[in-house]
Amino acid sequence: MKIITLPHRAEIKCQGYWDGYSSFVTNDKSVFTEDGIIVAAKKTTAADSQCFDYRNCFLLPALIDCHIHLRMPAGKTSPAERIKKYLASGIFAARDAGHRDGFLPVPYYPFRLLQPGYAIFKRGHYGAAIGIGAGSLKEALQAVDMLAEKGASHIKVVASGIFSFSRYGETGPASFSAFELKQIVRRAGFHNLPVMVHASGDEAVRRALQAGVATIEHGYFMSGETLSALADCGTYWVPTLIPAAVRLTDKKLRLEHTPEERSVISRTLAQHMELVAKGAALGARIACGTDAGAPGVEHGKSLYREIKLLQKAGLSPLQALRAATSTAAAACGLKNTGSIETGRKSCLLAVPGNPLENIDVLQKPTALFLPG
Ligand SMILES: [Zn+2]
Repeated sequence: MKIITLPHRAEIKCQGYWDGYSSFVTNDKSVFTEDGIIVAAKKTTAADSQCFDYRNCFLLPALIDCHIHLRMPAGKTSPAERIKKYLASGIFAARDAGHRDGFLPVPYYPFRLLQPGYAIFKRGHYGAAIGIGAGSLKEALQAVDMLAEKGASHIKVVASGIFSFSRYGETGPASFSAFELKQIVRRAGFHNLPVMVHASGDEAVRRALQAGVATIEHGYFMSGETLSALADCGTYWVPTLIPAAVRLTDKKLRLEHTPEERSVISRTLAQHMELVAKGAALGARIACGTDAGAPGVEHGKSLYREIKLLQKAGLSPLQALRAATSTAAAACGLKNTGSIETGRKSCLLAVPGNPLENIDVLQKPTALFLPG
């Protein structure tokens, strides 16, 4: 896997490319770029244009992981080493979901790391590992201001617990009221920041939707009514299937659970995958995020596994690919990326086959092209 920084002008020859939206691969055999932007062919016939011969590959937009915890797990690997793993997996950008130690130094060029710094959770509720506790609405709003001032690219709010491994259907109570969430969204909007909300259980998701958040993370155990509301209002949903799946497949992690717990996790995952299928059928905007850094969820490689799980849940290869490219870019507010179109940034991935015919080509990408 090569990581190529594009020169001033370039032509990348390929077998064809998938633009990030369409149900087909184009017949075009070249993508042209100038100063890191995709341009129309006629613009780059200049003599100084450098040619990259990838005629044995297809191109698609470089991938995005919408939900990671770069600082987790603690120790072992540095954030910079983890970022190399993302790039090696064809991922050029990721949205972090918070850590109790806050912001990481940036930039990790050429990687695009979107950071909220700390997640905001309700004191006394779940969230201490990934953020700072707010004891009141006033404190939560002060936290929004502080994070905005420190350069957050979005605000992360923890609005519920996580799903129980021992009692099917339990997620802990919804921590913030709909009113509190609405005020947080409003304050974040004042700073032009979108709000990413960890919400599991029907009540927490319903409140987050009412508040007008940008993305729902996880969203376990939504009712049919709430799922319809999510699809109708166009809020992005990042279901994160892999954290539950690895608890059943990872040898070490499996042993941490009793057979009864494994059965609860298995049932929870099956129900969540069913929700994903129903959501897709309703037209919900599903974006791909892994929760990498959570137990057993590897940085970088997990995105391919999440895409496969979305497909297993019932998304078509096209829908699953969109979830990790064009829809992911929109969900994360990564403007001008996520598709191969004139005027978009030249973040491109070369893979050894047509991704719409065989999604497994994402497992071993050939080259990642990034703006210079
Ligand atoms: Zn998370």
